[in-house]
Amino acid sequence: MIAKKAATTVLGFCLALSFAEGALAESSPARLSGLSHGRHLHLINSNPDDFDTSTSATASPAMTFHGGVVLGQLSVRLLYAGPSWSNQAFVADKIAGFDSFFAGFGGSSYAATAQEYSGSNGAVGPTIHYQGHGTPLATSLDGESMQDVATAACNEYAANAATMPNPGSELIMIVSDMKRPSGGKYCAYHSAATCDNGQMIQFGFVWNLDGDPSCTVQDAATGHSQGLASLVNVTAHEVQETRSDPHLDAWFDSSNNEIGDKCAWSFGATPVTLSNGSQWKLQGEWSNAAFNVGTGFPNASGQPGCIDHVAGTTSGAPR
Ligand SMILES: [Zn+2]
Repeated sequence: MIAKKAATTVLGFCLALSFAEGALAESSPARLSGLSHGRHLHLINSNPDDFDTSTSATASPAMTFHGGVVLGQLSVRLLYAGPSWSNQAFVADKIAGFDSFFAGFGGSSYAATAQEYSGSNGAVGPTIHYQGHGTPLATSLDGESMQDVATAACNEYAANAATMPNPGSELIMIVSDMKRPSGGKYCAYHSAATCDNGQMIQFGFVWNLDGDPSCTVQDAATGHSQGLASLVNVTAHEVQETRSDPHLDAWFDSSNNEIGDKCAWSFGATPVTLSNGSQWKLQGEWSNAAFNVGTGFPNASGQPGCIDHVAGTTSGAPR
């Protein structure tokens, strides 16, 4: 029996915007008004027509460093939320698929795309521990109360602290059985919270994307179900942002876009192969290094800074 714990502080958050819906920041705080969003409200619209072009033509699109920490290592635990996770027809290939994705993520060339970034505490590091998942939460989370999401993440952390040996490196990624709210503009988000034992953790949230045309990946190549393929794509976005901007004060551009935001819904020509050989359709992540030498593929604004593997990376399978 785990006592309910309150997350005492929630930082701002970064949301992966669905690609088929428009309108940027102004319309979202109403829906998210219960959230204690701080100085950084990370929103990205991947529709090129609405992509933020407010910066001057001479402004660099590069990510800039804002002084915070990055994650030198990462520990990921998944938390499935809601009764549908006990329904095999709903689960389908999702749980096994997530296990496969995270088993192959560490050591992959895709994971290495975040590792050019350094914070006040050193560089994003390659060590990634996948800690699996436990029994799904009996109750669903609609994702609209970030306090509720943070509390669930802190509870999961507290219940499993003995298996989480690297304080500060934890990401609790919550996978909901609920679909996005009507009119919702986001597929997923990440943030951080200080739990009531004083430990800061990172957390992420992704809605059920089954049949959701606004957050889906068109993936005919890997054999994964639409729901799984879509969940994993946006999860990869959130994980890479968590590593490079865990507290929303390290790496983002002049429009507050993090490395996943800048390449949302931009994909390389072929699926990504992870270190265990599993294949996934994963969006690119922004690389200042690739942009500077023109070797990335373009994002929705046509800026060639997106990569889904690091040239010369020795770990992970080539693609
Ligand atoms: Zn994002």
